[in-house]
Amino acid sequence: MIFADVIIDISVKSLDRPFQYIVAPEMEEEIEIGSLVKIPFGMGNRIMKGYVIGLSGEALFDISRMKSIIEVEKQGVVAESHLLSLAYWIKENYGSTMNDAIKAVMPVKREVKELVKRTIYPNVSREEMTDARNEFEKKHNSARVRLLNELLCSDKNFRDGIDYSYALKNLKVSSSVINGLKDKKLIIVDSVSEYRNPIGNQSGDDDRHVLNQGQKHIVDSVMKDYVSGIRKTYLIHGVTGSGKTEVYMNIIEKVLLLKKQVIMLIPEIALTYQTVSRFYKRFGNRVSVMHSKLSAGERYDQYTRARNGDIDVMIGPRSALFAPFQNLGLIVIDEEHETSYRSETPPKYHAREVAIKRASMTGASVILGSATPSVESYYNALNGKYELFTLEERAGGAKLPEVQIVDLREELAAHNYSIFSRSLKSLIEDRLERHEQIILFINRRGYAGFVSCRKCGKVIGCPHCSVSLKPHSIRGKVTQLKCHYCGYSEPMPAECPDCHSKYIGTFGLGTQQVEEMVRKTFDGARVLRMDADTTSGKDGHENILKQFEEGEADILIGTQMIVKGHDFPNVTLVGILAADLSLNVGDYRASERTFQLLSQAAGRAGRAKKPGKVVMQTYQPEHYSITSAAAQNYEEFYEKEITTRQMLQYPPISNILGVLVLSVNEASADNLAQVLCNKMKIYEDVTVLGPTETSISKANDVYRRVVYGKCADYNILCSIKNQFEEYMKDNDKHKDCRLIFEFN
Ligand code: ADP
Ligand code: ZN
Ligand code: ZN
Repeated sequence: MIFADVIIDISVKSLDRPFQYIVAPEMEEEIEIGSLVKIPFGMGNRIMKGYVIGLSGEALFDISRMKSIIEVEKQGVVAESHLLSLAYWIKENYGSTMNDAIKAVMPVKREVKELVKRTIYPNVSREEMTDARNEFEKKHNSARVRLLNELLCSDKNFRDGIDYSYALKNLKVSSSVINGLKDKKLIIVDSVSEYRNPIGNQSGDDDRHVLNQGQKHIVDSVMKDYVSGIRKTYLIHGVTGSGKTEVYMNIIEKVLLLKKQVIMLIPEIALTYQTVSRFYKRFGNRVSVMHSKLSAGERYDQYTRARNGDIDVMIGPRSALFAPFQNLGLIVIDEEHETSYRSETPPKYHAREVAIKRASMTGASVILGSATPSVESYYNALNGKYELFTLEERAGGAKLPEVQIVDLREELAAHNYSIFSRSLKSLIEDRLERHEQIILFINRRGYAGFVSCRKCGKVIGCPHCSVSLKPHSIRGKVTQLKCHYCGYSEPMPAECPDCHSKYIGTFGLGTQQVEEMVRKTFDGARVLRMDADTTSGKDGHENILKQFEEGEADILIGTQMIVKGHDFPNVTLVGILAADLSLNVGDYRASERTFQLLSQAAGRAGRAKKPGKVVMQTYQPEHYSITSAAAQNYEEFYEKEITTRQMLQYPPISNILGVLVLSVNEASADNLAQVLCNKMKIYEDVTVLGPTETSISKANDVYRRVVYGKCADYNILCSIKNQFEEYMKDNDKHKDCRLIFEFN
């Protein structure tokens, strides 16, 4: 006997779980995961539609009380049902409500009317129309006269026509008047059902290259698998400019020839005009983009176009992963290491993992690409879970830049108190003289403050967790240092525990501050600054990059926003002002992020003919994140990093579940966090940390506590999550608390 787990049609509220139904023997053949079915539901056995998201041979409750599926709809498995099964998987794997999971996979709920653009054109010569107008004038047909006059009033109107809605609204001409003129064959009305095309019309040539050996090898291997029906996940590790995008486009082209559809994920920040137009030039109208700046109408159109098969390639950030393609053949994730692929709001899924799941459900392959792969992906590649390809050299023949590490402790010793080391200062002066461009990068990602010694570079860290301690201040004065993983705390020291200098304190460096210093130090230099303040507005960030590209400034100052996407051929110097700032964010991924950012920032120098130079200023010149990034040596970084993760049982060696407790009542939050902590401790294989405050211990008057569990087996953590969910449902005691789960 077969049983089906059915999610009731999404217009209904109570979606939080699937319901089990009996599958009649004659249906067994045709039913599959994703089938649309009719079922009796509720007390009145109302007939409703539902999607099958699971099939099993095991009844979850008494068969005599179980209802049967009435009918399997013939339309087959639709994209929506795949997406619903995916939503269920997301709910189970990351912990969220089914509602939130469905919202994530089906972002377009409201139907927005399709745009139809109608234009009124003349259908006769100017002379004939003038005659007709004169006739109408005599008959006092003033509405007709208004419309014809509008067409006759300028050459432009006579040639390009006038907008239908303009005629209705502004000329106050009714549609029956327009139809009358149409019947007399004086005008024609042309209506194009115009999908809002967010890319705009692109022109220019496709910049196509003959693939080099390395590129060709990847394309051939992937396609060889593909045509023989092998589907898997590939990881392309190749420095920036090594021709990864060219490889993606070649494979996409071949997959499209097989009548399959493709999703191409690009981090939002890299989704620039430059990148999108490259795809558009190659694939034309079959491409579309989805991103957060689209209007609801534009989004709906892209969704519809995808579902109707009017497009074959969807480009976009995380959310484009859920494009409702019926015939998905390939998912590409560029810059797969990017943090923006993880959702910040529930369900806190990771696009890479969900992509691999969706691909396995629909028979698609996945290609991941990065210059600095995530430690997880590289680990999976080395273990044979993914197939690894490496592109060693830059495709255009450009050289990798020369990197110099500057030890800021020596600058202090030499009485240089400026934020520019002597070496960086003289290089900036040199570039200004030669009219070449400079990027100054401030590495502030996830920066939450830490305490360090400016003399010896020592950062005060947690003795248990290998992360930095966070300063906690009372009335602006730092009094305590705390670990946000395990809760360890100590008083703020008065001097450096290592070298006993008094130059110890919190470290801060803002973009604005740097801009001021630049203007003071380099008289007459033209400066652009890019950060959250200067990039608000629809195209703020694109505009600044464009100005810089067009040579309107000598120096661009910015945070991680500037290290992605754009190519600046005239940039020959990149200065990284405090390379270690992101090393001390109190997160087990800090070294990884730092390495990634530094590598990417370094990659901005010397992208074209002119050789580039990079200066990394740091208090921790020996740290492997910094030395490996300077040497542009990913493997070296990986080896060191994976050893650390092994030692401390961090992912990908082990898994971490973070349970965030939220409550407006501090005592309730503390109490529940403690209860959950004790419950977690019952599991033998789980190492429990906490409960502790989060980095923002109170936000919007909501208190936040967190408990961590580490375990090699992801499934055990999942069952803890399930147990906690059940506990919360059954337990009135913790009504004023809410849980958020976060894996790894
Ligand atoms: P990535 O995605 O790895 O950064 P791209 O595919 O963008 O690399 O390629 C970097 C530059 O090299 C682009 O300007 C691209 O047009 C060019 N390029 C790519 N492949 C080749 C090739 N086989 N021969 C010459 N130039 C190439
Ligand atoms: Zn010191
Ligand atoms: Zn700790």
